[in-house]
Amino acid sequence: MRLYFFAKEGEACVGVEKDGYLCDVTDIAGDDLITIIEFYEEFMERVNEVELEYTIKIEDVKLLAPFYDPQKVICIGKNYLAHCQEANTDAPKKPVIFSKYTTAIIGHDDYIIHPEETSQLDFEGELAVIIGKEGKRISKENAFDYIFGYSIMNDISARDLQFSEGQWVRAKSLDTFAPFGPCLVTKDEIPDPQNLSIKTTLNGELMQDGNTNLMIFKIPELIEFVSRNITLVPGDIISTGTPSGVGHFKNPPKYLLPGSIIEVEIEKIGILRNKVVEDKK
Ligand code: MG
Repeated sequence: MRLYFFAKEGEACVGVEKDGYLCDVTDIAGDDLITIIEFYEEFMERVNEVELEYTIKIEDVKLLAPFYDPQKVICIGKNYLAHCQEANTDAPKKPVIFSKYTTAIIGHDDYIIHPEETSQLDFEGELAVIIGKEGKRISKENAFDYIFGYSIMNDISARDLQFSEGQWVRAKSLDTFAPFGPCLVTKDEIPDPQNLSIKTTLNGELMQDGNTNLMIFKIPELIEFVSRNITLVPGDIISTGTPSGVGHFKNPPKYLLPGSIIEVEIEKIGILRNKVVEDKK
Protein backbone atom coordinates (compact mmCIF):
# COMPACT_ATOMS: atom_id res chain seq x y z
CA MET A 1 0.00 0.00 0.00
CA ARG A 2 1.17 3.49 -0.85
CA LEU A 3 0.12 5.89 1.89
CA TYR A 4 0.13 9.65 1.40
CA PHE A 5 -0.35 12.08 4.25
CA PHE A 6 -1.87 15.38 3.18
CA ALA A 7 -3.70 18.45 4.38
CA LYS A 8 -7.32 19.15 3.46
CA GLU A 9 -9.03 22.23 4.82
CA GLY A 10 -6.47 22.43 7.59
CA GLU A 11 -6.97 18.82 8.66
CA ALA A 12 -4.39 16.04 8.42
CA CYS A 13 -5.60 13.25 6.14
CA VAL A 14 -4.38 9.90 4.90
CA GLY A 15 -4.84 8.62 1.40
CA VAL A 16 -4.12 5.41 -0.45
CA GLU A 17 -2.59 6.06 -3.86
CA LYS A 18 -3.11 4.47 -7.25
CA ASP A 19 -1.92 5.90 -10.57
CA GLY A 20 -1.38 9.39 -9.19
CA TYR A 21 -4.76 9.63 -7.47
CA LEU A 22 -5.63 9.29 -3.79
CA CYS A 23 -8.55 7.71 -2.00
CA ASP A 24 -9.06 9.51 1.31
CA VAL A 25 -9.16 6.78 3.96
CA THR A 26 -8.86 9.04 7.00
CA ASP A 27 -12.25 7.88 8.31
CA ILE A 28 -11.09 4.29 8.56
CA ALA A 29 -7.38 4.81 9.11
CA GLY A 30 -7.18 7.70 11.52
CA ASP A 31 -4.86 10.49 10.59
CA ASP A 32 -1.59 9.48 12.18
CA LEU A 33 0.98 6.87 11.41
CA ILE A 34 1.10 5.26 14.84
CA THR A 35 -2.64 4.50 14.74
CA ILE A 36 -2.26 3.05 11.26
CA ILE A 37 0.63 0.85 12.36
CA GLU A 38 -1.16 -0.26 15.51
CA PHE A 39 -4.41 -1.15 13.73
CA TYR A 40 -2.95 -2.07 10.37
CA GLU A 41 -4.62 -5.48 10.07
CA GLU A 42 -8.05 -4.04 10.88
CA PHE A 43 -7.35 -1.13 8.59
CA MET A 44 -6.51 -3.50 5.74
CA GLU A 45 -9.65 -5.56 6.38
CA ARG A 46 -11.79 -2.45 6.19
CA VAL A 47 -9.98 -1.16 3.13
CA ASN A 48 -10.62 -4.48 1.42
CA GLU A 49 -14.31 -4.33 2.30
CA VAL A 50 -14.98 -0.98 0.72
CA GLU A 51 -14.72 0.16 -2.87
CA LEU A 52 -11.83 2.62 -2.92
CA GLU A 53 -12.51 5.65 -5.05
CA TYR A 54 -9.40 7.41 -6.21
CA THR A 55 -10.70 10.92 -6.78
CA ILE A 56 -8.01 13.24 -5.40
CA LYS A 57 -5.18 14.15 -7.72
CA ILE A 58 -1.92 14.12 -5.75
CA GLU A 59 -0.76 17.34 -7.39
CA ASP A 60 -3.86 19.11 -6.07
CA VAL A 61 -3.14 18.55 -2.37
CA LYS A 62 -0.51 19.74 0.06
CA LEU A 63 1.49 16.70 1.04
CA LEU A 64 2.71 16.30 4.61
CA ALA A 65 5.60 14.25 5.90
CA PRO A 66 4.46 10.73 6.83
CA PHE A 67 5.26 11.50 10.45
CA TYR A 68 6.59 14.52 12.34
CA ASP A 69 7.26 13.18 15.79
CA PRO A 70 9.00 9.83 15.64
CA GLN A 71 10.68 8.92 18.87
CA LYS A 72 13.94 8.57 16.97
CA VAL A 73 15.47 9.54 13.69
CA ILE A 74 18.48 7.25 13.53
CA CYS A 75 20.90 8.08 10.76
CA ILE A 76 23.66 5.94 9.35
CA GLY A 77 26.86 7.64 8.22
CA LYS A 78 29.37 6.34 5.68
CA ASN A 79 27.24 3.39 4.56
CA TYR A 80 28.21 3.38 0.88
CA LEU A 81 31.79 2.59 -0.11
CA ALA A 82 31.92 5.08 -2.98
CA HIS A 83 30.73 7.83 -0.61
CA CYS A 84 33.52 6.92 1.85
CA GLN A 85 35.99 7.08 -1.04
CA GLU A 86 34.81 10.48 -2.28
CA ALA A 87 35.08 11.72 1.33
CA ASN A 88 38.59 10.25 1.51
CA THR A 89 37.72 8.25 4.60
CA ASP A 90 37.98 4.55 5.38
CA ALA A 91 34.90 2.37 5.22
CA PRO A 92 33.66 1.83 8.80
CA LYS A 93 34.10 -1.53 10.51
CA LYS A 94 30.71 -1.19 12.18
CA PRO A 95 27.74 1.07 11.46
CA VAL A 96 28.24 4.76 12.21
CA ILE A 97 25.17 6.01 14.06
CA PHE A 98 24.06 9.57 14.59
CA SER A 99 20.74 11.29 14.97
CA LYS A 100 18.64 14.10 13.60
CA TYR A 101 16.22 15.99 15.81
CA THR A 102 12.56 15.64 14.88
CA THR A 103 12.15 19.43 14.65
CA ALA A 104 14.12 19.19 11.40
CA ILE A 105 11.41 17.14 9.66
CA ILE A 106 9.55 18.73 6.74
CA GLY A 107 7.43 17.25 3.97
CA HIS A 108 7.52 17.10 0.18
CA ASP A 109 7.57 20.55 -1.42
CA ASP A 110 8.25 22.25 1.92
CA TYR A 111 11.09 24.74 1.96
CA ILE A 112 14.60 23.94 3.16
CA ILE A 113 15.85 27.05 4.94
CA HIS A 114 19.37 28.09 4.03
CA PRO A 115 20.84 29.42 7.29
CA GLU A 116 23.25 32.33 7.05
CA GLU A 117 25.66 30.39 9.30
CA THR A 118 26.57 28.03 6.44
CA SER A 119 27.99 28.50 2.99
CA GLN A 120 28.23 24.74 2.32
CA LEU A 121 24.67 23.44 2.38
CA ASP A 122 24.55 19.92 0.98
CA PHE A 123 22.14 17.07 0.25
CA GLU A 124 22.19 13.31 0.90
CA GLY A 125 19.44 11.21 -0.67
CA GLU A 126 18.66 8.20 1.51
CA LEU A 127 16.27 5.28 1.84
CA ALA A 128 14.32 5.63 5.11
CA VAL A 129 13.14 2.53 6.93
CA ILE A 130 10.09 2.95 9.16
CA ILE A 131 9.83 0.64 12.16
CA GLY A 132 6.45 -1.04 12.73
CA LYS A 133 6.94 -3.07 15.89
CA GLU A 134 8.70 -2.55 19.21
CA GLY A 135 11.82 -4.63 19.63
CA LYS A 136 15.18 -4.99 21.26
CA ARG A 137 17.98 -7.41 20.40
CA ILE A 138 16.39 -8.09 17.04
CA SER A 139 18.36 -10.59 15.01
CA LYS A 140 19.06 -9.79 11.39
CA GLU A 141 17.11 -12.90 10.43
CA ASN A 142 13.99 -11.41 12.03
CA ALA A 143 14.64 -7.79 11.12
CA PHE A 144 12.02 -7.51 8.37
CA ASP A 145 9.29 -8.47 10.87
CA TYR A 146 9.97 -5.14 12.57
CA ILE A 147 9.73 -2.97 9.46
CA PHE A 148 6.48 -1.22 8.55
CA GLY A 149 7.60 0.35 5.32
CA TYR A 150 9.88 2.67 3.43
CA SER A 151 10.15 6.30 2.46
CA ILE A 152 12.79 8.82 1.43
CA MET A 153 14.82 11.16 3.61
CA ASN A 154 17.15 13.90 2.45
CA ASP A 155 19.90 14.20 5.06
CA ILE A 156 20.56 17.90 4.59
CA SER A 157 23.97 18.79 5.96
CA ALA A 158 25.83 22.04 6.59
CA ARG A 159 29.32 20.77 5.72
CA ASP A 160 31.24 23.68 7.20
CA LEU A 161 29.51 23.12 10.54
CA GLN A 162 29.84 19.34 10.22
CA PHE A 163 33.59 19.42 9.67
CA SER A 164 34.41 22.19 12.15
CA GLU A 165 32.50 20.80 15.12
CA GLY A 166 33.17 17.66 17.14
CA GLN A 167 29.67 16.27 16.53
CA TRP A 168 27.63 16.01 13.33
CA VAL A 169 24.26 16.30 15.03
CA ARG A 170 23.87 20.07 14.93
CA ALA A 171 25.10 20.37 11.34
CA LYS A 172 22.46 17.85 10.29
CA SER A 173 19.61 18.88 12.59
CA LEU A 174 19.02 22.54 11.87
CA ASP A 175 15.36 23.32 11.23
CA THR A 176 14.11 21.89 7.88
CA PHE A 177 17.19 19.65 7.47
CA ALA A 178 15.15 16.43 7.31
CA PRO A 179 12.86 16.45 4.27
CA PHE A 180 10.82 13.24 4.52
CA GLY A 181 8.31 11.75 2.07
CA PRO A 182 6.59 12.02 -0.35
CA CYS A 183 4.77 8.90 0.84
CA LEU A 184 5.17 5.76 2.89
CA VAL A 185 5.23 2.47 1.02
CA THR A 186 4.41 -0.59 3.10
CA LYS A 187 6.99 -3.36 3.05
CA ASP A 188 4.81 -5.81 1.10
CA GLU A 189 5.15 -3.52 -1.94
CA ILE A 190 8.95 -3.65 -1.82
CA PRO A 191 10.02 -7.27 -1.33
CA ASP A 192 13.67 -6.39 -1.90
CA PRO A 193 14.56 -2.96 -0.49
CA GLN A 194 18.18 -3.83 -1.09
CA ASN A 195 17.91 -3.38 -4.85
CA LEU A 196 16.44 0.06 -5.45
CA SER A 197 17.86 2.74 -7.65
CA ILE A 198 18.44 6.00 -5.76
CA LYS A 199 19.09 9.25 -7.61
CA THR A 200 19.44 12.84 -6.51
CA THR A 201 19.16 15.77 -8.88
CA LEU A 202 20.03 19.40 -8.20
CA ASN A 203 18.18 21.84 -10.46
CA GLY A 204 17.56 18.93 -12.81
CA GLU A 205 21.22 17.86 -12.96
CA LEU A 206 22.00 14.31 -11.82
CA MET A 207 24.20 14.38 -8.71
CA GLN A 208 23.81 10.98 -7.05
CA ASP A 209 23.14 7.80 -8.98
CA GLY A 210 23.33 4.77 -6.73
CA ASN A 211 21.53 1.63 -5.70
CA THR A 212 20.61 0.41 -2.24
CA ASN A 213 22.45 -2.82 -3.05
CA LEU A 214 25.65 -0.82 -2.49
CA MET A 215 25.05 -0.32 1.24
CA ILE A 216 28.00 -1.54 3.31
CA PHE A 217 25.71 -2.58 6.19
CA LYS A 218 22.40 -3.87 4.86
CA ILE A 219 19.07 -3.06 6.52
CA PRO A 220 18.88 -6.27 8.65
CA GLU A 221 22.40 -5.68 9.95
CA LEU A 222 21.54 -2.08 10.80
CA ILE A 223 18.43 -3.14 12.72
CA GLU A 224 20.38 -5.83 14.55
CA PHE A 225 23.17 -3.42 15.43
CA VAL A 226 20.96 -0.53 16.56
CA SER A 227 18.48 -2.65 18.50
CA ARG A 228 21.17 -4.52 20.41
CA ASN A 229 21.01 -1.92 23.15
CA ILE A 230 18.43 0.57 21.93
CA THR A 231 14.73 -0.29 21.91
CA LEU A 232 13.11 0.42 18.56
CA VAL A 233 9.48 1.53 18.61
CA PRO A 234 6.82 1.99 15.92
CA GLY A 235 7.45 5.11 13.88
CA ASP A 236 11.19 5.19 14.46
CA ILE A 237 13.05 6.11 11.29
CA ILE A 238 16.36 4.64 10.20
CA SER A 239 17.88 6.71 7.42
CA THR A 240 20.25 4.25 5.84
CA GLY A 241 23.04 6.43 4.50
CA THR A 242 23.78 8.09 1.20
CA PRO A 243 25.45 6.95 -2.01
CA SER A 244 28.29 8.91 -3.57
CA GLY A 245 27.77 12.15 -5.47
CA VAL A 246 27.00 14.65 -2.72
CA GLY A 247 27.69 18.28 -3.63
CA HIS A 248 30.59 18.89 -1.23
CA PHE A 249 32.89 16.40 -2.94
CA LYS A 250 32.17 17.50 -6.52
CA ASN A 251 34.95 19.37 -8.27
CA PRO A 252 34.08 22.19 -8.01
CA PRO A 253 31.64 21.67 -5.11
CA LYS A 254 27.94 22.13 -5.83
CA TYR A 255 26.05 23.43 -2.84
CA LEU A 256 22.40 24.19 -2.23
CA LEU A 257 21.61 27.88 -2.59
CA PRO A 258 18.41 29.86 -2.19
CA GLY A 259 16.27 28.91 -5.20
CA SER A 260 17.83 25.46 -5.62
CA ILE A 261 15.46 22.56 -6.28
CA ILE A 262 16.66 19.29 -4.84
CA GLU A 263 14.95 16.01 -5.73
CA VAL A 264 15.63 12.53 -4.38
CA GLU A 265 14.08 9.67 -6.35
CA ILE A 266 13.99 6.10 -5.10
CA GLU A 267 12.59 3.32 -7.25
CA LYS A 268 9.18 2.02 -6.13
CA ILE A 269 8.75 4.95 -3.72
CA GLY A 270 8.74 8.21 -5.67
CA ILE A 271 10.34 11.63 -5.75
CA LEU A 272 10.93 13.83 -2.71
CA ARG A 273 11.29 17.42 -3.94
CA ASN A 274 12.19 20.52 -1.93
CA LYS A 275 13.15 24.07 -2.71
CA VAL A 276 15.81 25.96 -0.79
CA VAL A 277 14.95 29.44 0.46
CA GLU A 278 16.82 32.20 2.20
CA ASP A 279 16.55 32.38 5.98
CA LYS A 280 14.25 35.32 6.67
CA LYS A 281 14.98 35.02 10.43
MG1 MG B 1 23.47 10.84 5.61
